[in-house]
Amino acid sequence: MAKTSPIPVPTVHEVPDNPWHNAQLQFDNAAHLLNLEPGLAAVLREVKREFTVRFPVKMDDGSLRVFEGYRVQHNVTRGPAKGGIRFHPNVSLDEVKALSMWMTWKCALVNIPFGGAKGGVIVDPANLSHHELERLTRRFASEISILIGPESDIPAPDVNTNGEVMAWIMDTVSMEKGYSIPAVVTGKPLDIGGSEGRPSATGRGVTIVALAACRKLGMDPKSTRVAVQGFGNVGSVSAQLMHEAGFTICGLSDVYGAIFNPEGLDMDEVMAFQREHRTITGFPKATALSNEELLEADVDILVPAALENQITGANAGRIRARLVIEGANGPTTPEADAILESKGVTVVPDILANAGGVTVSYFEWVQDLQSLFWEEGEINKRLEKIMERAFTQMVLQSEEHHCSWRLGAYLVAVKRVADATAVRGIYP
Ligand code: NAD
Repeated sequence: MAKTSPIPVPTVHEVPDNPWHNAQLQFDNAAHLLNLEPGLAAVLREVKREFTVRFPVKMDDGSLRVFEGYRVQHNVTRGPAKGGIRFHPNVSLDEVKALSMWMTWKCALVNIPFGGAKGGVIVDPANLSHHELERLTRRFASEISILIGPESDIPAPDVNTNGEVMAWIMDTVSMEKGYSIPAVVTGKPLDIGGSEGRPSATGRGVTIVALAACRKLGMDPKSTRVAVQGFGNVGSVSAQLMHEAGFTICGLSDVYGAIFNPEGLDMDEVMAFQREHRTITGFPKATALSNEELLEADVDILVPAALENQITGANAGRIRARLVIEGANGPTTPEADAILESKGVTVVPDILANAGGVTVSYFEWVQDLQSLFWEEGEINKRLEKIMERAFTQMVLQSEEHHCSWRLGAYLVAVKRVADATAVRGIYP
């Protein structure tokens, strides 16, 4: 009989930086440590529903273009599916699956009654006119309307989408039903049922955990230098609020490049420059760096707030920050995680660090359902309480199991979803 060669087991090094593989690997580590029953682990390591749509959009010149988009629900055991919609040329089904799984753990970690979902369309919105963007958004909303709704699945903004895009989605679903359904999306403008504090919520959450992590690690914000990668909703607000909290913001980047000033950047001046030029590159009181150089800059805290797979096996060894706070989803690959841990770099994982956004989205949904709106002070106070509680629970788990904060956060989150599944039982 021919001898069968052993099945090659990929080492972490050989696993490509596919976000879905990375998400499953992170889950597997937690499932293993929790000693999760294999059947239950098999359920939780896959997505529940993945929906692909291809749809035509009439362009301004009269031509038709077909776009591809996705809505994926990873898990809905603890409540309706929740997660943003991304417009980006590199969107893929695997990316959306990973983002949906991370949403499940994020909602469970901060203990809000949502499951995880995500959506995306393969498109570069910079190449569309405003009218084309509106038609694309409305048609995509219509295509996924069989899934979304206040009780089933609630989208929100993500990369290259914003309050206006959410308003178009809310209007499209409402027009199809014949009445207004504000709670179908979060991150809407205030005029149609949005929440105070939502636009700044993710950056505020990043700042809350940055302060908590500094207290835990004995770092004084007043003598702590920060670099932030990405200057969109998450990055710009994180930089501003961390600056207000006393940190020195030395480095910033956007898709066009990076700026650095070891003495610190004046955030008001940077914001004014960005408003005028639509980019931070070219800001006069700083040195220009490449995006790669920014990640390796001489700072104490690095906040990746752009896209996944930014800190990888290729550059993790050169990261000089002692604390990484993941404003983006999935910015650090498992291979990089291992390298950072061996260098003594602490990582505040995405499922905690950027959970401020979904937490205030939850507040927005609750307010919409009650038609009763809260003041910003109340929202920020509740957000702080939830973020600090989750931070404490994460640290407790990591200390109990002598593991990273990421694994500690996963232990809290995965156990909550596993327990909920066990209590509900398996249908039928
Ligand atoms: P955004 O579209 O508002 O901003 C993205 C920013 O990243 C832009 O400034 C862009 O220029 C920059 N960028 C893109 N590629 C880059 C690169 N290679 N190097 C440096 N900068 C680059 O998106 P956002 O809403 O701020 O989302 C950023 C990240 O945060 C994503 O991972 C998203 O999933 C995550 N996130 C967003 C929210 C939210 O409330 N918007 C909540 C949780 C997590």
